[in-house]
Amino acid sequence: MKEVLNKSFYELSNLIKNKEIKPSEVCEAYLERISKVEDKINAYTYVNENLINEAKEKDEKLAKLSKDEIPELFGLPIAIKDNICVSDMPMTCSSRILEKFISPYDATVIRRIKEKGALILGKTNLDEFAFGSSTETSYFGPTKNPWDLERVPGGSSGGSAAAVAAKEAPIALGSDTGGSIRQPASFCGVVGLKPTYGRVSRYGLTAFASSLDQIGPLSKNVKDTAFLLEIISGLDNKDSTSVDKPVENYLEALENDIKGIKIGFDESILEDTDEDVKVNFFETLKILEKLGAEIIPITLKHIKYAVPTYYIIAPAEASSNLARFDGVRYTYRAKNYKDLIDMYMKTRMEGFGKEVKRRCLIGTYVLSAGYYDAYYLKAQKVRRLIFEDFEKAFKNVDLIATPTSPTPAFKLGERINDPIKMYLSDIFTIPANLAGLPAISVPSGFSKEKLPLGFQFIGKPFDESTLLNVSYQLEKALNLNLEPNF
Ligand code: GLN
Repeated sequence: MKEVLNKSFYELSNLIKNKEIKPSEVCEAYLERISKVEDKINAYTYVNENLINEAKEKDEKLAKLSKDEIPELFGLPIAIKDNICVSDMPMTCSSRILEKFISPYDATVIRRIKEKGALILGKTNLDEFAFGSSTETSYFGPTKNPWDLERVPGGSSGGSAAAVAAKEAPIALGSDTGGSIRQPASFCGVVGLKPTYGRVSRYGLTAFASSLDQIGPLSKNVKDTAFLLEIISGLDNKDSTSVDKPVENYLEALENDIKGIKIGFDESILEDTDEDVKVNFFETLKILEKLGAEIIPITLKHIKYAVPTYYIIAPAEASSNLARFDGVRYTYRAKNYKDLIDMYMKTRMEGFGKEVKRRCLIGTYVLSAGYYDAYYLKAQKVRRLIFEDFEKAFKNVDLIATPTSPTPAFKLGERINDPIKMYLSDIFTIPANLAGLPAISVPSGFSKEKLPLGFQFIGKPFDESTLLNVSYQLEKALNLNLEPNF
């Protein structure tokens, strides 16, 4: 079993292709691991109770297939953030209001991985409706960080990140609206990539802020991310924001020479960053230089407005998207109401947690007549300026580097009552969402307390190849031991 758990997702795929291991052996190893450690971690909201049967069916099919007929993800279990629809499985968004909701259909990303033979391992915990940076606002209780059980795994895809770090899943999908793949990846010592806006279909992802949301992988290493990203990417006629651009061969791109690659960074953004994070960031830049990269100072003039801009736009879109959860559809409905309006109010009062209500209030406020121009419209204009800063910078550089988060994983309870402090954990990740750019977090070392730290690369639109290529070379050069001891 240990053998299986120590293999990368890509290695498992090859082992199955060569018929050296059976899908049921892989699935059993993961289910056994889950039964051992899940009590401590709480990474899942649901584990697929039918998995072994599904895996055994794959075993039988496998025996009949020749090597070339075996699709890439055949019989491989994948964990899915619980705001992505998987047919006939719960889809709770870690909210009481969807506690009993069973999805009637597959999201496009799920359809794509299933077509390649993948199995769904389970649904992973998140901050309620993906609003948060710690997974503490989940209706099902917080997920714990495998590196230190008193700390948060980050969020909102904390369940996905912790599941991969704790070897409860070989790989996972998450969603990222302002950092929700990358920040938990950095807190848990795994790789997390948010694709360019439009690269991956959002059909079947519960909408949070539709102009920012993207689905992406969280994995043990860069190659696994490249491998899965290639499969989930591409145009989808069910999502009109998905883009008709050919998907590159990300795996092939990993081996490209990175000599002469230009990496920009703006030192002024590091002002409120932890000392440990800064030290690690500069050490990592040095390593990149040794690998042949050229480090170039750039200025991102408006980036300091990214967090306030995001906290107008994201809640505005969220308040509108969440209007559908009204007690009429999607299962939860309050009892003892007087009339329709009372039913709406009581359902939402009881069904939503505190942070969700806060976002709906902020969003409704900034969109209301009289405030729309002062807040929402202005935020849209600043968003444009942030985009233009990147556009300008990318005339001279291939990639932009920042730490993923200004701190390593913080303690459970430390920020939950201080929303501003919580919001600031996404100071480096939010700009890429506002500008629609691809970005990745790669483990780059450890803090003094031996907590993992992440290094972020932001790329040009649809240039996931370069992100993955440089990350892969960096990962090889660093050769970190990323096994939490717990
Ligand atoms: N932490 C950010 C928020 O709370 C981002 C969340 C996300 O990317 N889903 O809005």
